[in-house]
Amino acid sequence: MNEESGPVQQPHRVLHLHERVLGRNQELATLNRRLFHDTGVAVINVLSAPGSGKTALLERTLADLKGDVRAAVIVGDLATDNDARRLSRSGAPIVQITTGTLCHLEASMIARACEELDLASLDLLFIENVGNLVCPASFDLGESLRVVLTAVTEGEDKPLKYPTLFKTANIALVTKIELADACGFDRVALRKNIGEIAPQAEIIELSARTGCGLAVWYTRVRGLIHAHA
Ligand code: MG
Ligand code: ZN
Repeated sequence: MNEESGPVQQPHRVLHLHERVLGRNQELATLNRRLFHDTGVAVINVLSAPGSGKTALLERTLADLKGDVRAAVIVGDLATDNDARRLSRSGAPIVQITTGTLCHLEASMIARACEELDLASLDLLFIENVGNLVCPASFDLGESLRVVLTAVTEGEDKPLKYPTLFKTANIALVTKIELADACGFDRVALRKNIGEIAPQAEIIELSARTGCGLAVWYTRVRGLIHAHA
């Protein structure tokens, strides 16, 4: 059998398809970004592994900013609308995207979800991405800020194992900080790992449960809104 033909061509085809998909996504993300700019809404793409506390942070954030920030959430999950129902209790507009087998959100999905929102009436839009540290990194959604969460219960080496995602983040939130001592978390080691992989990312330690560290987070969120108003 000729080694030049057959299976060896497969990776090339896959690669080309991948490039086309990402190229098309980038075009649509640029359109989203223009729409968000024109309607004056700040958009934060929230990424993490499953269970790092994205929904808990957004629940708390929506509750605490209610009254002076008009916020909405687009939430992506493989299945269920559990997170959307949790977030809906805040009274903010929530759009659930159920991706089925797709493990990330794409710009086209955000464009469609935005048709269900009155963007001009919003200051802030959170996008809670599908819990996954791999491919969401490659899909620009048109956001103005990208935030990655890593919980103290996940240990210190997530930035080393998933460098691409951390490299694209503006802020790294270290969540569930109230559990740090209980699980023997080494905060110096995590800071060192993030600093090595993603020196651009600001690190904020916080707890959505106790409220520790949230003031800094809210200052960043308000700053972003101000910049996009
Ligand atoms: Mg969630
Ligand atoms: Zn994916």
